[in-house]
Amino acid sequence: MTDVIVIGGGAAGMIAAYGAALSGGSVLLLEKNEKLGKKIYITGKGRCNVTNACDFEGLISNQCRNGRFLYSAFRRFSNEDMCELLESAGCRLKTERGDRVFPVSDHASDVTKALTRLLSETGVSIRLRTEVRSIEQLPEGGFALKAFDQEHRHTETFSCQKLIVATGGLSYPTTGSTGDGYRFARHFGLRVNDCLPSLVPMEVEELREVSELSGLSLRNVELSLYEEKKLLYKELGELLFTHRGLSGPLVLTASSYAGESMLSNGGSCDGLSLSIDLKPALSAEKLDARLLRELDGAKNQDIKNVLRAMLPSSLILPVLGRAGLDPDRKANSVTREDRQRIGAVIKDLRYQVTGLGGFNEAVITKGGVDVKEIDPRTMESKKFPCLYFAVDMLYLYSITGGFNLQNSWSTGYAAGVSA
Ligand SMILES: Cc1cc2nc3c(=O)[nH]c(=O)nc-3n(C[C@H](O)[C@H](O)[C@H](O)COP(=O)(O)OP(=O)(O)OC[C@H]3O[C@@H](n4cnc5c(N)ncnc54)[C@H](O)[C@@H]3O)c2cc1C
Repeated sequence: MTDVIVIGGGAAGMIAAYGAALSGGSVLLLEKNEKLGKKIYITGKGRCNVTNACDFEGLISNQCRNGRFLYSAFRRFSNEDMCELLESAGCRLKTERGDRVFPVSDHASDVTKALTRLLSETGVSIRLRTEVRSIEQLPEGGFALKAFDQEHRHTETFSCQKLIVATGGLSYPTTGSTGDGYRFARHFGLRVNDCLPSLVPMEVEELREVSELSGLSLRNVELSLYEEKKLLYKELGELLFTHRGLSGPLVLTASSYAGESMLSNGGSCDGLSLSIDLKPALSAEKLDARLLRELDGAKNQDIKNVLRAMLPSSLILPVLGRAGLDPDRKANSVTREDRQRIGAVIKDLRYQVTGLGGFNEAVITKGGVDVKEIDPRTMESKKFPCLYFAVDMLYLYSITGGFNLQNSWSTGYAAGVSA
């Protein structure tokens, strides 16, 4: 009988297997994909934002749910510990804007390679293309797992003293996270909260406009999310126009607040709107003065050409359209009221939210195994000793910036060393 089996070779499972193997016992990692860490390859747009170099308080305050649950996991294995571990395994790291940590190479594959090296050094056995289908508790203690060997097309039984389930949530199911672990947790009678896609692109009513702007990326803008007039979220940063709406870091984070609002409104997104301030560094007065200066300096030019100095060219017609101005009008015909209408649109480019993207484009799953079922120091089930769970399985998630992977490293490590 193996000492510890880990189901799932994603971020949490790999670090859990490493943590478990540190004590010298036998550890087997079962992964249904043909390779480990399939999701890691697509994180951070292929660069993998490994963690965030903020302080301890930052790790907690950037959680959207159940942040306090993570206290002891972060104390036991912090962002600094993870950086040290990766560097020791040959993956050099750098810190970018917003304390986001990436491999120096900008290749997510280097993170997976470093983790694989650690697994090999600590003697973890790995079985790929092996899909666990059921788990039973043995009368004499320990667990029996039935798994399908995809290569040889047969079912095999494995047994272990201690079991760590790190099968991920439901986001990007093509990477292997298809919710199997929730089924296992329910089988053991654990409470599993309903799951929703989170950190997702948002769909908007102004479809024609956004699809024409599709591909446009805006930096240093301020995004606000409103429920009617109530401000739910406001932040400076980067966003992206897509065929169906808006995406990019600001929008992904806003989507988790939108999701909370929708949950409390029976799933409806009525009254939710996104407002983009295209010139957040300028007050309305300063923006008006700048517009006046630009228009005065090019009196005989069309307004659409004058605005090129201030806005990305693809945004000029939508902004003028919303302000009710003919783009071919000469700058010298623009009145004070016209200018103020342009300014108002630049400060509040508004989109009505009609929905959130699905699991196939969600960074994270909101929901999952209720953290009340789990001992936060060890990640062990309170009802079933020797059964452990790690990250995306659990009802934990945070904003973008490397925090979600840090949750994987910290909970995975806690589960591994405890097992
Ligand atoms: C597009 C995208 C970009 C992201 N970028 C970032 C980022 O830059 N920084 C950040 O902090 N977070 C990022 N995240 C979030 C982060 O990737 C996840 O929080 C993290 O990978 C979760 O790790 P996990 O091990 O719990 O789950 P997963 O990575 O989903 O791993 C679960 C593993 O279990 C395996 N498995 C499932 N069921 C079974 C079974 N029955 N038998 C055997 N194996 C099974 C799966 O094949 C999979 O390999 C991103 C997510 C996405 C989707």
